[in-house]
Amino acid sequence: MSTTRREFLKRASAAGVGALAVSALPESIISQTQSAVKPVAISSGNGIPAVTKAIELIRSGSDALDAVIAGVNIVEDDPNDTSVGYGGLPNEEGVVELDAAVMHGPTHRAGAVASIRNIKNPSKVARLVMERTDHVLIVGEGALRFARAHGFVEENLLTDRARQEWLKWKENLSTKDDWLPPHTPDDKDIGAMFEPFFRNTGTIHCGAIDLKGNISCVTTTSGLAYKIPGRVGDSPIIGAGLYCDNEVGSAGSTGRGEANLINCSSVMVVEFMRQGKSPEQACLDVCKRIAEHNTMRRLKRDDGKPDFNVNFYAINKKGEFGGAAIWHGPKFAFHDGTSARLLDCAYLYKK
Ligand code: ASP
Repeated sequence: MSTTRREFLKRASAAGVGALAVSALPESIISQTQSAVKPVAISSGNGIPAVTKAIELIRSGSDALDAVIAGVNIVEDDPNDTSVGYGGLPNEEGVVELDAAVMHGPTHRAGAVASIRNIKNPSKVARLVMERTDHVLIVGEGALRFARAHGFVEENLLTDRARQEWLKWKENLSTKDDWLPPHTPDDKDIGAMFEPFFRNTGTIHCGAIDLKGNISCVTTTSGLAYKIPGRVGDSPIIGAGLYCDNEVGSAGSTGRGEANLINCSSVMVVEFMRQGKSPEQACLDVCKRIAEHNTMRRLKRDDGKPDFNVNFYAINKKGEFGGAAIWHGPKFAFHDGTSARLLDCAYLYKK
């Protein structure tokens, strides 16, 4: 005797599973219950186009991973976003090096590339590491060769705008070296950084729930501007710059990657959600953890608070969401299945 949909949902709900545990259901029942799952997508503040694309694809039946990758590809391709992909700010030698990772909830598999040069969509390469190798992370020259083997075309990722930004940084680092910014013969301290030194950061993270209730996420970045060549941040490290557990939720981060590397931040957010915390509270609690563990004097303000920011974005299995940062200011993008909006991150401190 076949189980009716109503009987099934009653039992699922009595078992505490709820209508969202659709991934565990037989295909025939999934199709009947699709409307019960609310697709959502979350991203960093630069991610309105990403969440919009992701939800469009999810609505037409895409798996959450396909959707979030297609979403961030828009930002990777955008020369005006200087923190991701093509047009990203380069390392200290003027070379763009990209990091990206993907994580697929239903299979609990992941793939990542780090310090990859000349390939503008590292998130697509990360996905192939997951799907076409037995590894999780491939770096540098090996990552480039792997991308080439899969037909990726190399291109120069350094836009004129990013090159000029880098040159300005290089020429203003010191009055004692040989790189000089525009000057007149009468100028004395040529190369003093007249503007306050600003270390650009930026990245895009995107996580989503699809019509089957499955959760996946991606993080992609050009990393810290003017970094030491080969420096890898949190973005391609599973558990640091992103993490998802299909039964709990997903989390990702932007900001000072080193803080996430030493605190395994994204997996902490997911684990806090597993303990019952809301996505926003889980993100805030990891911000607190980072602040407590921040021991280096050069990374502290005089009042002891961190002299940097880290932002988190999280969704849980029920489609609840939240974003939080150490310092007030950042926003996050959220799509509730109907429309996308930018929302303020919760925060620990305000200047
Ligand atoms: N988290 C990135 C990194 O450390 C940078 C950023 O998000 O701004 O590479």
